[in-house]
Amino acid sequence: MSTSEKTPDFIRAIVAEETASNKWGGRVVTRYPPEPNGYLHIGHAKAICLDFGVAQEFGGQGHLRFDDTNPTKEETEFVESIKADIRWLGFDWGEHLYYASDYFEQLYLWAVELIRKGKAYVDDLSMDEIREHRGTLTAPGRDSPWRDRPVIDNLDLFARMRAGEFPDGAKTLRAKIDMAAGNVNLRDPVMYRIRHASHHRTGDAWCIYPLYDWAHGQSDSIERITHSLCTMEYEDHRPLYDWYLDALGIYHPRQIEFARLNVSHTVLSKRKLLQLVSEKIVAGWDDPRMPTLSGMRRRGYPPEAIRDFCDRIGVGKTQNLIELALLEHCVREDLNKRAPRGMAVLHPLKVVIENFPEGKVEEMEAVNNPEDATMGARKVPFARELWIEQDDFREDPPPKYFRLSPGVEVRLRYAYIIKCTGVVKNERGEVVEVHCTYDPATRGGTADRKVKGTIHWVSVQHARSAEVRLYDHLFLTLKPDESEDWKASVNPNSLERLMNCYVEPALANAAPGERFQFERTGYFCVDPDTAPGHLVFNRTVSLRDAWARLEKAETR
Ligand code: ATP
Ligand code: MG
Repeated sequence: MSTSEKTPDFIRAIVAEETASNKWGGRVVTRYPPEPNGYLHIGHAKAICLDFGVAQEFGGQGHLRFDDTNPTKEETEFVESIKADIRWLGFDWGEHLYYASDYFEQLYLWAVELIRKGKAYVDDLSMDEIREHRGTLTAPGRDSPWRDRPVIDNLDLFARMRAGEFPDGAKTLRAKIDMAAGNVNLRDPVMYRIRHASHHRTGDAWCIYPLYDWAHGQSDSIERITHSLCTMEYEDHRPLYDWYLDALGIYHPRQIEFARLNVSHTVLSKRKLLQLVSEKIVAGWDDPRMPTLSGMRRRGYPPEAIRDFCDRIGVGKTQNLIELALLEHCVREDLNKRAPRGMAVLHPLKVVIENFPEGKVEEMEAVNNPEDATMGARKVPFARELWIEQDDFREDPPPKYFRLSPGVEVRLRYAYIIKCTGVVKNERGEVVEVHCTYDPATRGGTADRKVKGTIHWVSVQHARSAEVRLYDHLFLTLKPDESEDWKASVNPNSLERLMNCYVEPALANAAPGERFQFERTGYFCVDPDTAPGHLVFNRTVSLRDAWARLEKAETR
């Protein structure tokens, strides 16, 4: 269902109402404000889809603004990955790429203006002392002894802070609001702190850096944002957002908060994701098990499926936990429509068709996607020796086992019906070869003959070997975040590498990023580790209902 067919969420309702009343002069301008200190994850995708989605739907403009106010944790690598991920997700900021650091001079001038108005002061208390003076939710704060510094002194000291005269932490600039305010964010919040640190864009030009609250609303104002959409944790900051803009008397956007996305079996805190990377619990930010967009891209999740997921979860004010299974469902639905089919054997077992001439090769016609006739068909080579899945043969079949077993017939997808006539075992008594005969009258699977099972196969002689990586949830528990010892629930079996798989020759030249459905097995994507002579596939998502569908089709 597309957004337009649904009842609009509360944010879209507000924007629609304010558009109708012409509150913003016909404009809708939103911004997505990432801090470049990590890679984007699925939670960020929700915010991106909302910010850029609202702008798009109302014929407005979405800005990308890096909130790069903290010089020590930010890196260009993150800026570049964030841009790439947003583009990949399908959004475009056009020429509206901004950095909070672009506004450092203007923010400084505005701070001077607040000092002049008696609404800000230089404080000599340390950060610890400020915290101590701040009071609690139940107890009011205490005034700093420097709160009533004369304006002239504040102007002088603030200029000298900027000039680098004081060491880190020696002074701050604080807004003069109300130390007894019920909302602790209004108890003379810090606007600037001293940090002699190089910034990824401004270099050593500054040694004082604005705090988020001081930078954010004013940046929104400069860009003439109409709706500043952010997550619920900023609700208590809104009075401060409004206070700064009113104190300056400048253009005033509207901040609206919505609930963050929480997803089961993973963590979304950047600090924790960084730990997973730096402690090498995963292979990198783009490890296919990561909830990052780069991880999901590598795993094979299509951006369309992620957007569909964000659309389905909706936007509200109450937090809830969304099952990872919903995202997987969206991925499956999307890939079912678009992914070409192929045959691959992940746990190979050899079948020898005794009555099929040695050296003979037949070409079988296979449809590329039963959901989409325009995707055409391909030829799959068939010969005397085939690989099938170990699971598709049982010497002693359990009840209702419809695949291959001694004396039983099975259909080979797109090829013939075969019957098992015997097995070859190794010295440990394990079946290493299954011998069969085929019925030449059943070619192409069109013969009107009842067999209960259909299995896939790859010709031994034509098969390309491949590595296949299977992924499971990165965490075993539903909410790993809730536990102090969250790393304890990392799933030790979240990655399984199968080094000895075989794929049909049509898949041999697939390029990294290409996605396929391996019939009966799941959806797979070519990994960038693929190199000439070494194919690597990631399992994007399993094909949950494969058995049900194939068996129903067979017995019809
Ligand atoms: P932190 O601030 O702890 O580094 P963050 O995930 O909030 O982490 P930001 O770069 O500040 O990172 O996030 C950018 C935007 O994405 C913010 O507007 C934030 O509200 C939004 N956002 C972050 N996490 C989620 C989430 N889980 N669901 C929806 N939106 C989110
Ligand atoms: Mg944040």
